[in-house]
Amino acid sequence: MAHILTFCAASQPEIPRHPLELLAAARALNAQLGEGPVHTLCVGPASRVYGEELIHRGADQVLTVECPSVEAEISLAVVESAIQHLAPQVVIFPHDDLSGAYVGPYVAYRLGAGIATDCVGFAVQGEDIRWLRPVYGGKAMAYMRIYGPIQLATMRARAFDPLPADPARRGEIRSFPVDWKSVRPQIRVVERLEAKREEGELPLDRAEIIVSGGRGIGSAEGFTVLRELARVLGAAVGGSRPAADLGWVPHSHLVGQTGKIVAPHLYIAVGISGATQHIAGAGSSKTIVAINKDPDAPIFKLAHIGVVEEWEKVVPALIEVLREWRS
Ligand SMILES: Cc1cc2nc3c(=O)[nH]c(=O)nc-3n(C[C@H](O)[C@H](O)[C@H](O)COP(=O)(O)OP(=O)(O)OC[C@H]3O[C@@H](n4cnc5c(N)ncnc54)[C@H](O)[C@@H]3O)c2cc1C
Repeated sequence: MAHILTFCAASQPEIPRHPLELLAAARALNAQLGEGPVHTLCVGPASRVYGEELIHRGADQVLTVECPSVEAEISLAVVESAIQHLAPQVVIFPHDDLSGAYVGPYVAYRLGAGIATDCVGFAVQGEDIRWLRPVYGGKAMAYMRIYGPIQLATMRARAFDPLPADPARRGEIRSFPVDWKSVRPQIRVVERLEAKREEGELPLDRAEIIVSGGRGIGSAEGFTVLRELARVLGAAVGGSRPAADLGWVPHSHLVGQTGKIVAPHLYIAVGISGATQHIAGAGSSKTIVAINKDPDAPIFKLAHIGVVEEWEKVVPALIEVLREWRS
């Protein structure tokens, strides 16, 4: 039987998808290890708002910590305290800027525990968990085994589908006491700057469809055509490193090893060659469509649907057809 703790940052009024995916992962793990309780530590201004939804999606107990914002050092202190209190065997974090890069690895360091980061799944053999994660920039997959009494993992977005909400599901929601006097952050956030977003533009992490452009788009004007395609599809707009460096898309929309890791249902790569560093961020998408004029572009090795053509001929025609369908 495994005692599992998942982490949820409650910084926005609406519950994001990622913590719900972690609950699906935790329940799947529990089903294989022998049913045990799944706790969720929910930290942030909206922690109480999320409580019921987390129960309906698989948590047995939700521990809420209300604080004005979800800062890294505060989360770290709260997670450490919750681990001491609950003594879970497994802790699952979202693999995002907060937990994947900071809280998860720091907690592991402080506990002297092993951590598998950026996982996309797991396999259970007897009582062992083998954490599955991409390696070599997504060119291969590896199973990682963690030794010791506690295992930590960060889970990539979209690796699991959230469980359907079950309003009949019951669980406990209670406030988790924190001794704030003992939490002494060394970093103070002076100002928070929101990345500039075009009106109606979707953030990458919440999009089911992403239209992504590369150097092959050729100009910022070219990206206005991609934005139109995204608008018609209800998609978010992403870009490769050159597209971001040339200012055609904001850096917050860069996809890849040094940008966002995404896994939407549909990823449309336009004028993108398919370098490993880009694929590291988009390779887990359920369906990849590539539009590229070069039939030898590496992206075609990965794409489920490939269109060998200049995007200028394909994308406006696609927009036209989609508009007709919609009307
Ligand atoms: C340490 C490191 C980290 C990196 N991290 C990232 C990262 O996070 N994300 C990332 O994207 N890159 C990253 N890179 C850069 C990466 O190696 C590639 O250089 C980059 O992904 C290439 O971007 P691209 O495909 O847009 O451009 P290119 O490789 O120049 O490809 C452009 C493509 O457009 C096609 N094309 C041109 N004109 C047209 C047209 N009219 N119609 C259709 N197709 C056309 C071409 O055939 C070509 O395939 C990183 C590199 C390093 C070294």
